[in-house]
Amino acid sequence: MATLLSIENLVVAYGAVEALKGVSLEIQEGDVVAVLGANGAGKTTLLKAISGLVPIKEGVIKLKGEDLSKYPAFRLAEQGIMHIPEGRRVFSTLTVEENLDLGSWGIRKNRTPQELQKNKDWVFALFPILKDRRRQFAGTLSGGEQQMLAIGRGLVSQPKILLLDEPSLGLAPILVLEIFRVIRQIHEEEKVTILLVEQNARKALGLADYGYILETGKIVLHDAAAALKESEHVKAAYLGGGRFQRASQ
Ligand code: ATP
Repeated sequence: MATLLSIENLVVAYGAVEALKGVSLEIQEGDVVAVLGANGAGKTTLLKAISGLVPIKEGVIKLKGEDLSKYPAFRLAEQGIMHIPEGRRVFSTLTVEENLDLGSWGIRKNRTPQELQKNKDWVFALFPILKDRRRQFAGTLSGGEQQMLAIGRGLVSQPKILLLDEPSLGLAPILVLEIFRVIRQIHEEEKVTILLVEQNARKALGLADYGYILETGKIVLHDAAAALKESEHVKAAYLGGGRFQRASQ
């Protein structure tokens, strides 16, 4: 398998505070890679650095061997990097379908209307509820439906890599299952590469191929997801009543 994204020695600082202190990781094409870590570990900062939303102090991020620092953030989506931030941000005064159309804005000039429609139909097939509600204002959707729309809006641009920041946060258990079902489907059927930041460590490792444990800005452990599930450190800190465990796990 080929390496899609590689990060070497990434340092990101907010003023004097270093949120990432020399992070290196690799993502193989078609893999789901989970990043686990406690609050404030630097997970969101890692995703923001990849999508160009925070400046890099040191280090290099490459997509298929190409240094991404030469692109401004608004060009990274065109390169195939799609970031779905935490908090289900949708345009609430636009309809579901208009939100999806905005998602394909970056690739519009390189695709035929038929190709764009095909991508949208694929998202409607993944999330039938969005098809039913295509003419409804996004602000009237439930929290879970808005999360589906946020993911769908990312998918219509056919990204090379999807960066998902805590997609299940704050959702009812049944919707958490639905979101994970879809992530699995995207992975298995379409082989979309996914970098998944999740507070739900058990579910994330159940889905991922590989995982990284981020603690106070440093990778302290990385391995195949199946091996991480058996790691004493991961079990104690993230899976079984350790001090970092959240009520929802
Ligand atoms: P959470 O799970 O709580 O979202 P996280 O692992 O995503 O946490 P980050 O949001 O990346 O962590 O934050 C990493 C560190 O950087 C934290 O100490 C945080 O307080 C700090 N930080 C994040 N954003 C900023 C900012 N805009 N200005 C200053 N410090 C920041």
